[in-house]
Amino acid sequence: MWVRKKMEEIKKEKEGFKPSLSAPTVVFICTLIAIIVPKVTGISRSIYNSKPVGLIDLLPMIPKILAIALGLFGLTYLVQFIRKKNFLVEKTTTVICDECNMKKTDNGINTCECGGSFVNIDKMKWVEEDSKKENK
Ligand SMILES: [Zn+2]
Repeated sequence: MWVRKKMEEIKKEKEGFKPSLSAPTVVFICTLIAIIVPKVTGISRSIYNSKPVGLIDLLPMIPKILAIALGLFGLTYLVQFIRKKNFLVEKTTTVICDECNMKKTDNGINTCECGGSFVNIDKMKWVEEDSKKENK
């Protein structure tokens, strides 16, 4: 059955939160592409007033480009850490009634037909029906 997590459990989960590397990695790769592609293709010519850069000419710029990309990688990671939330994670819209355990997609109605209230699944946890007996 589903029961509400205790406040301490939710707090503990947040304390143990480790930011995922997926969003920072996407930022890192996009930054590399966003810098390198315009340089190599010459799209940036009008912006930087420079000719397309050959791949060999690009080599001296690599440390600088990597530094920028790594900086944004770190920044994304840091923002996730501060918010205690990952980007690129789908928000759970499943809610469960805390009385009858009925599941549904969140539609803004928070009161169940049984009189219980719908709680986001993130704030619920699954416990075996007979775990209470075992603890005795
Ligand atoms: Zn209910």
